[in-house]
Amino acid sequence: MATVKNGQVVLKGYIEGAPKKDDMEMKIGTVELKAPKGSGALLVKNLYLSCDPYMRARMRNFHGSYIQPFVPGQPIEGFGVAKVLDSDNPNFKPGDFISGFTCWEEYSLIHNTSQLRKIQPDDSIPLSYHLGLLGMPGFTAYAGFYEICSPKKGECVFVSAASGAVGQLVGQLAKLHGCYVVGSAGSSQKVDLLKNKLGFDEAFNYKEETDLDAALKRYFPQGIDIYFDNVGGAMLDAALLNMQVHGRIAVCGMVSLHSYSDPKGIHNLFCLVTKRIKMQGFLQSDYMHKFPQFLEHVTDSYKQGKIVYIEDMTEGLETAPAAFVGLFSGKNIGKQVVCVARE
Ligand code: NAP
Repeated sequence: MATVKNGQVVLKGYIEGAPKKDDMEMKIGTVELKAPKGSGALLVKNLYLSCDPYMRARMRNFHGSYIQPFVPGQPIEGFGVAKVLDSDNPNFKPGDFISGFTCWEEYSLIHNTSQLRKIQPDDSIPLSYHLGLLGMPGFTAYAGFYEICSPKKGECVFVSAASGAVGQLVGQLAKLHGCYVVGSAGSSQKVDLLKNKLGFDEAFNYKEETDLDAALKRYFPQGIDIYFDNVGGAMLDAALLNMQVHGRIAVCGMVSLHSYSDPKGIHNLFCLVTKRIKMQGFLQSDYMHKFPQFLEHVTDSYKQGKIVYIEDMTEGLETAPAAFVGLFSGKNIGKQVVCVARE
């Protein structure tokens, strides 16, 4: 098999504060298009790569989290969709499409195949959706909403970062469940999408609100039953004040804090007591036993036109650093994906 050039995006070194494009760089390596005998590995061609907020946490030299830091100088690891070119593993063959952990490079040799999922190509579903709607973010929405929020028909649901990879599905699942759903997002274009494409009952631009507490009171005069928190910080503080008695808060992520090494405190935690609120953090990976059920439910709903999905795709591996950095200023509209190659 041939040896070819392999473009790669590497992290230059561990970072502080908000990520910048220059924290990463392109390198050109070489790769033999072969899975060595006895390795059990796959040699894949990467087609689509996922930009996810949690990756920011892997850019610091901290080993005490649920996931290891990136290795500076090595290609960045992340979720991707790829095509198998060569296999030394009986479970995969050349031509198979897979999704799971790969690297930010054109070709990858994947040794750890245990978490990879084989994709059956389906003309009605773009392959890249296996990084969003049918991938980790979609599953996060599903697991967080059904397993943590205990939703009931008619309840009032608030979703922050609502037009993003996770939030847009949370809102749609809540609507299908018969809930009243309001989303917050960071631009008028996103607010318009939430109301007119994603079917939210209401949406508002949190950047235009001088008083988040007053904004939530406007949309939830009776209070919030479920808050699906993607952002933390000031929005969480305001939501606490507006929760209904026995409300639930699913703490999915705190993207507003990713860039700050010294985050501000939350002031309204006393509401947990007075309103008997259940607030629970979760990781989607704890619910993998529900993945097949999720895949069937969301695939069917998508094919029946009950769910839509918005993707933001950039073209070319070299666009990955800017696409990733854009997550932290809200540049992405929908799930951020990088197309490295189409086949
Ligand atoms: P995303 O929403 O597609 O992209 C990030 C969005 O966050 C941006 O578009 C921006 O939207 C918003 N944002 C950025 N900086 C912000 C700030 N300072 N304050 C408020 N909003 C800000 O990302 P995602 O993949 O769906 O992830 C959403 C959240 O879920 C993240 O916190 C992520 O870490 C978390 N997550 C958790 C799990 C889990 O297992 N628990 C799994 C996946 C993701 P606006 O323009 O609307 O501000």
